[in-house]
Amino acid sequence: MKASPFQYHRPQTREELGALLARLENAKILAGGQSLMPMMNLRVIAPDHLIDINRIPDLAGIRETAEGIEIGAMTRQADVLVSPIVRSRLPLLARALEHVGHIQTRARGTIGGSCCHLDPSAEQPAMCAALDAEFIVSGPDGRRTIPAGEWFEGLLQSALGDQELLEGLRFKPWGKGHGHGFAEYARRHGDFAIAGGAALLEAGKDGRITRAALLSFGVESAPRRLPDAESSLIGQHIDSLDAKPAVAAARALDAMEDVQVTADYRRHLAGVLIGRALEEARTTLERRS
Ligand SMILES: Cc1cc2nc3c(=O)[nH]c(=O)nc-3n(C[C@H](O)[C@H](O)[C@H](O)COP(=O)(O)OP(=O)(O)OC[C@H]3O[C@@H](n4cnc5c(N)ncnc54)[C@H](O)[C@@H]3O)c2cc1C
Repeated sequence: MKASPFQYHRPQTREELGALLARLENAKILAGGQSLMPMMNLRVIAPDHLIDINRIPDLAGIRETAEGIEIGAMTRQADVLVSPIVRSRLPLLARALEHVGHIQTRARGTIGGSCCHLDPSAEQPAMCAALDAEFIVSGPDGRRTIPAGEWFEGLLQSALGDQELLEGLRFKPWGKGHGHGFAEYARRHGDFAIAGGAALLEAGKDGRITRAALLSFGVESAPRRLPDAESSLIGQHIDSLDAKPAVAAARALDAMEDVQVTADYRRHLAGVLIGRALEEARTTLERRS
């Protein structure tokens, strides 16, 4: 199938983009097109207007600022994956990106596009939730910052307004030497995950956990942090971490059922994968002397 007819617009400035978003009805922003075009071709959606933001300056790039690490929405997934800043300061994000699609899709697909599309199995928005990223958004009422906890409103539904643009993401990196772990299950490499898990750990000089983040994705309609299990890790020694609360919390999620797996099997996977992610975070945590 092919997309239903639409008008194509290619603004060159933020002002032109703002005017188009304000004027046009049933319009969609086009970033890398790796999710939008398949959805249009399958006629899941039928926008009357496509607004291509590939020519808008300053929407791509990765920089360290006093407020954290900022990644522009139009930064290609391939560039995020190889960025030395991301690899050293946000290793969990780099680790997850290895599992996103294929070289070809990562060359076009953008981190912002994935965070706006919000497939429940998408690794990038999930890692934003694990890392407590902030979403920087601009629209007719100016610029606003949305914390990760308020970004996910449901299946394929973010907090972004119809006339708003996601400009970029801001991350506050975890401490040097923090532990990070990622695990997912997909039928073939590059397929969307059936379920996944991620973990972050920090410890004091005595080897006791001082900070923890645990997250399951691909299980419910949006990624889910596991706050009680995170709290249960605080104070534990890295040599004897009890993973049971994390596994139990992931298995208690309200798992989706689909043509691939039953809800029971997805819950089982969620438990296994959070356990693996936690173990990887434990082993990557650098011991302080
Ligand atoms: C074969 C294949 C395999 C894939 N495998 C995976 C995978 O394993 N994991 C995974 O996470 N993804 C996967 N993807 C999806 C891929 O990562 C997409 O690139 C991503 O979901 C969307 O990014 P995009 O830049 O292509 O956005 P687009 O497709 O252009 O846009 C997606 C949506 O976001 C909106 N949008 C985009 N940018 C902005 C912005 N800055 N502000 C406001 N709205 C915006 C668009 O209007 C649209 O609604 C796969 C895709 C393909 C084709």
